Amino acid sequence: MSVIQAYLRDIYDCYVTAMKGLHVTIKVMADKPFTKQYPEEDTGVTAQFRGLHVFHHDKCNGCGLCAKRCPVECIAIEKVGKGKTAIVTRYAIDYTKCLFCSLCCEACPHDAITMGHDWYLEAASRDECMREFVAESELPEWALSGEVKESEKKDGEKAGAGSAAATATTGAGASADPKTSAGGPG
Ligand code: SF4
Ligand code: SF4
Repeated sequence: MSVIQAYLRDIYDCYVTAMKGLHVTIKVMADKPFTKQYPEEDTGVTAQFRGLHVFHHDKCNGCGLCAKRCPVECIAIEKVGKGKTAIVTRYAIDYTKCLFCSLCCEACPHDAITMGHDWYLEAASRDECMREFVAESELPEWALSGEVKESEKKDGEKAGAGSAAATATTGAGASADPKTSAGGPG
């Protein structure tokens, strides 16, 4: 290729490259802007997004499988009673430790704990990152007082287990409150 041919070839390549870039620019100019003005505008999340948990109290039997599966032992569960009469009186997650791995949800046989789409975790202190999922107003009086239902007492007596029934369950080797377990906040 002669010098003249190479020179003309360069001009041609330059023109084609510029036209290609211009084509993209003109095409995009016709699109609507997709930038969201956060925080004024909600940015939304995808369907698979793992946000703060959603606890379905009516489905939970307090079996503790979720807490056992949690790799950072940040789930605290307390329940009163046994078997079908049991009621979960406390379900809490320490979000200073939670990895949003979803293993707890996978472990739950009743879909009682699921990953939600809410991701606002604003807090003024680490204590505020401990989220309680069971409100006292949801609990019957007998559960609040720690007493066991009569039917439950009978079951316990039959089994020779006496009438004790308040049970706390957390991840393996952890205390009832994850904040007091090793590596907890504060
Ligand atoms: S999402 Fe993971 S780290 Fe968080 S509570 Fe569930 S199992 Fe534990
Ligand atoms: S595994 Fe499910 S049913 Fe069992 S304590 Fe956890 S949330 Fe409740």
